[in-house]
Amino acid sequence: MVRPRLHIGLTGGIASGKSTVAAELSALGAIVVDADALSRAVVAPGSEGLRRVGEALGPTAIAADGSMDRAAVGKLVFADAEARARLNGIIHPLVRAEGQRLVTEAGPDSVVVQDVPLLVETGQADSYDLVLVVEADPEERVARMVRDRGMTEADARARIAAQATDGQRRAAADVLIVNDAGLEDLRRTTRCFWEQYVAPRLQGPTSRSQGGQTGGTTGRPKDGA
Ligand code: ATP
Repeated sequence: MVRPRLHIGLTGGIASGKSTVAAELSALGAIVVDADALSRAVVAPGSEGLRRVGEALGPTAIAADGSMDRAAVGKLVFADAEARARLNGIIHPLVRAEGQRLVTEAGPDSVVVQDVPLLVETGQADSYDLVLVVEADPEERVARMVRDRGMTEADARARIAAQATDGQRRAAADVLIVNDAGLEDLRRTTRCFWEQYVAPRLQGPTSRSQGGQTGGTTGRPKDGA
């Protein structure tokens, strides 16, 4: 498999600022692969993925317009762990395969950032050259979800509680961005991260596919960027 020059796994709790960091990294030249977007794409109307979801969960999973009925599916799998496992068993392999295809397509000289909300929960830290974690105060994240996404406070807290803890994500991080100031600060910190951790890897003549630099994060200090 062709591997990118640098393969970054980006993660963080819900509403922590991952997409903002990803957008800044994209502006700096990274190719961003967004697991959330892929998980929607693999069950797009008319897709094989959606056909299999309909087969696994029944016709109520598919709305009249041919799209996946997310509310109905959410209800079905919320109360039924077996149905949830069936759904994940369809979607996760498709997302992984599509992610791999995009990483290969990015080519050997690219910087690929994979935005994977559940990177820690799904034990994928070792798949990346570098794991970048965005952390924000849970109270701030609850406030964002309530204010911007119309969630109830209880829902927002339940979403946070269902994910890994900040401590678990920190343990998996090679670099930690603490998002505790404004958006412009977050973007500036992201640019610092690029300068410190990415730009040096872009120097040098060879790409991996030509026998050049190899990845690996062993011994990399956990660090605030
Ligand atoms: P999700 O897990 O839901 O995909 P996310 O981790 O990708 O969320 P973002 O979408 O980047 O998070 O940020 C969530 C919301 O919070 C956005 O509306 C974003 O503009 C806002 N936000 C993030 N960081 C800050 C900040 N430092 N100051 C103000 N608003 C912020």
